[in-house]
Amino acid sequence: MHGFVIRGSRGTLPTCGASFLRYGGDTTCFSLETPGGLLIIDAGTGLRHVTQELADRTDIPPITVLLTHLHMDHLVGLPSFGPLYSTHAQIRFMADPNRADDWQQALLAFMRKPYWPVGLTDADASLGFESLPAPDTPTDIYGVRVSWCAVPHPQQCAAFRLEWSGGSVVVATDVEFDAGQIPDSFVAFCKDAGHLLFDAHFKPSEIGQYSGWGHSTWEAGVALAKAAGVGELLLTHHSPKRCDDDVEGMVEAARRAFPRTRGASANMPLD
Ligand SMILES: [Zn+2]
Ligand SMILES: [Zn+2]
Repeated sequence: MHGFVIRGSRGTLPTCGASFLRYGGDTTCFSLETPGGLLIIDAGTGLRHVTQELADRTDIPPITVLLTHLHMDHLVGLPSFGPLYSTHAQIRFMADPNRADDWQQALLAFMRKPYWPVGLTDADASLGFESLPAPDTPTDIYGVRVSWCAVPHPQQCAAFRLEWSGGSVVVATDVEFDAGQIPDSFVAFCKDAGHLLFDAHFKPSEIGQYSGWGHSTWEAGVALAKAAGVGELLLTHHSPKRCDDDVEGMVEAARRAFPRTRGASANMPLD
């Protein structure tokens, strides 16, 4: 499992069916395992792939789950996360302490009876809850340099930048930026990243009617990728109404402006 792997790239709601196989229907989750431990960003249904891979192993590495925010599509895989039910597992959750809500209380409220038979605090694993350090203070987790910044989204979201011996990735999902107005500070945050995962939930033709919904377009992704000089742009948070051919159409449109573009799909490793 070593290396960075996209586990789920669907936004809002999981999808299934023959026309969703190429990009997958699992909601947002990413993993990066190093010799020091397993770093996970978000706990959408894509987290089930991590559970499946860990089930085949005798060891469970130390796990840190970084949460971009608490919207349900980014948490719904958590109650089924296998290591929660192992006394050998150590799982630490980290999120932005400056959110308007109390993220730890929100997480405990999300996973408890009657919504799930086992409350988060009743899980067998040893759990930790830790606020992220200040955005301008990168921290080392399992040999990975982790930085983050707040980005515009309803109830606010965090974008993460991971840098390790194998490369660098920016995860910018659930963010609303206008293609013509990407803030300089965010361009700097993404500067020269090997891979940029960017929220392309809406088509440019749709974004006008969904202003304020907290998502962007491939056009904003391309503008950011060019300005920041990233190695590759990966469009993610695919709308649940977007079949494979629709996503492919967006990727092809983006490629005409930024050739090193792909659509993020479930269980896609990044080299
Ligand atoms: Zn989302
Ligand atoms: Zn969201």
